[in-house]
Amino acid sequence: MIGAAGVRETLQLRREELLKRADRARDDAAHRREAVSPDFSEQAAERQNDDVLRGIESAARSELAQIDAALARLERGEYGVCTRCGNDIEAARLTAIPYADRCQSCAGH
Ligand SMILES: [Zn+2]
Repeated sequence: MIGAAGVRETLQLRREELLKRADRARDDAAHRREAVSPDFSEQAAERQNDDVLRGIESAARSELAQIDAALARLERGEYGVCTRCGNDIEAARLTAIPYADRCQSCAGH
């Protein structure tokens, strides 16, 4: 059994980290738009970089949404219970993915 306080701390630390990462990616992309290079090949490289930054930001924001949902489940006392079958989520799975909302077998569906 994982202590709720430890889980909350883990989720909140991860949440802060992701918020910083998402904001940094957004700021980097904004800076890049301000200083567009006159060189065409550099422009192409910059656009690719923007795509990478957007990818980082959207991945961070989608994980943030999952973490917020996990924190809400924690408050309701539903953390660690599979939202699909109602069984306990495996401890090893929660260690690997603290915001997991499905057990191992349901996650495959
Ligand atoms: Zn399940």
